[in-house]
Amino acid sequence: MITFTGKGAFGGYAMGQILFYSHPQTGIKAHTVENPSAELNRFFTAQKTAIEQLGKLYEKALSEVGRSSAMIFQIHQMMLEDLNYVDSIINVIQNQGQNAEYAISVTSAKFANMFAAMEDPYMRERAADVKDISQRLINVLTHNHDETISFEKPVIIAADDLVPSEIMQLDKDKVLAFVTCHGSTNSHTAILARIMNIPAVVNLGTDFTKEYNGRQAIVDGYNGKLIISPNQETSTYYTKIQMQEKANRALLREQLGKDNVTQDGQKIHIVANIGSTADIPDALENDAGGIGLFRSEFLYLENTFFPSEQEQFEAYKTVAQSMENKKVVIRTMDIGADKQADYFKLPKEENPAMGYRAIRICLTQLDIFYTQLRALYRASAFGNIAIMFPMITSVEEVQQIKKIAAQVRRELDREGLPYVPNTKLGIMIETPAAAMISDLLAKEVDFFSIGTNDLTQYTLAIDRQNTMLDQFFQPHHKSVLRLIKMVADNAHRNHIWCSICGDMGSDLHMTPLFLAMGIDEISVPPSSILAVRKKVRETNVSMIQNHLFEKWL
Ligand code: PEP
Ligand code: MG
Repeated sequence: MITFTGKGAFGGYAMGQILFYSHPQTGIKAHTVENPSAELNRFFTAQKTAIEQLGKLYEKALSEVGRSSAMIFQIHQMMLEDLNYVDSIINVIQNQGQNAEYAISVTSAKFANMFAAMEDPYMRERAADVKDISQRLINVLTHNHDETISFEKPVIIAADDLVPSEIMQLDKDKVLAFVTCHGSTNSHTAILARIMNIPAVVNLGTDFTKEYNGRQAIVDGYNGKLIISPNQETSTYYTKIQMQEKANRALLREQLGKDNVTQDGQKIHIVANIGSTADIPDALENDAGGIGLFRSEFLYLENTFFPSEQEQFEAYKTVAQSMENKKVVIRTMDIGADKQADYFKLPKEENPAMGYRAIRICLTQLDIFYTQLRALYRASAFGNIAIMFPMITSVEEVQQIKKIAAQVRRELDREGLPYVPNTKLGIMIETPAAAMISDLLAKEVDFFSIGTNDLTQYTLAIDRQNTMLDQFFQPHHKSVLRLIKMVADNAHRNHIWCSICGDMGSDLHMTPLFLAMGIDEISVPPSSILAVRKKVRETNVSMIQNHLFEKWL
């Protein structure tokens, strides 16, 4: 038994035979051509064919894995027409008199190296896309365009790395799992694996080679493990947990496409919490009704310096566009306490959870706040964005925020940049102070979102980070639940919507109570959406409302 450890790109278990996939070898050689304009025509014809092939792959992906994943093939079509890429190829053919295959291959290397050297991990991944489109062009030119990779029985597909088009050519019903030596969890390979609901482990290292082709193996996508030739005990263990997991997942997937409606007809929105654009496929795959909490501080934590307005704009725009007009609530950065970025140079504090964090930084370091608000408003032109502010304790803070937001809008007007002027502005209710004055705060904003993690921490005076206090950390404490009810009532009296975005949203014991309180929206990690939906659909609120209030409040 040999175990390789990599990174789990998508959870799940698989058992079967390894099929080590080899990329087509083309062995490109440079040679001078007698007639460069005829060679240019060869290239343009190949470009047209490749674009047509991608159109077909797009249609296939659209029906099998949905629009957001299929988009990669439209992006590849655009890349094939990218002026810099095409000019570089033309230049090698026309000015150096070289053959088209060689021109494509050097251009591919040049662009792939350029992407690979970029700091942004997302952009680095685009090196694989350049190689993918270039290989496609070369395959067309060399008549090496086998569009399906076929095998008889379901297998674990192994490779040094896989590109999106290779994945799409696989018969997905026969793929038990993907395992690769290289690759990151941000790659489209990983994204596609998640969307296709196929366990995947990437970055297993180069010791995992073709010599394992044909061996029996177990893939544990949750723990990023590949176990080759498992012993009897390990096989029995994984067979058991795989069966349990399959049964649970299948049951939940029955919820896809269903309404979030109780037995007595009460509706609620169920949306996703995400930390980066990489989580969007998960949200879509699990039928999220939108994004209820984008924790934007992760953009800051991933970086070694303040992310620029443009960088932030791109990320917010991506989320807005991917959700196609569904509401996307983006929270301004909640840096501080347990989320520290060195470049903020925050002072060491005795009591950081109650310290200089979130909106307190924004309202005292205005340049940081302006940059983020400008990026958010600019992105509002590309979808249905709402902006949310964390750690609010007073009406004055909210009034100050609104003034700053108005200044940002005026600035964008002056610059002629498009944005949605009435972008909804809301606040997190996660301090007892905010909950207690929620009647006043409700008059100032468009929505509330209750952060039950911090609300519990501050109400019970229990540090949420301190594991010694776990037994005392009681989110179901009556004080917390009563505050939630008070906030929901104040929101509704003032005709604004009230969401729950803290971890209590995934606590299925609480779902009926939240419904009884009339909570409008529950925002949970993507993997919890279908479980909450199932609970909502099983609940009859009117029958148990009084009983629930008596029991919990
Ligand atoms: C919360 O406090 O409940 C919340 C959603 O915010 P975070 O967990 O990011 O502090
Ligand atoms: Mg919080």
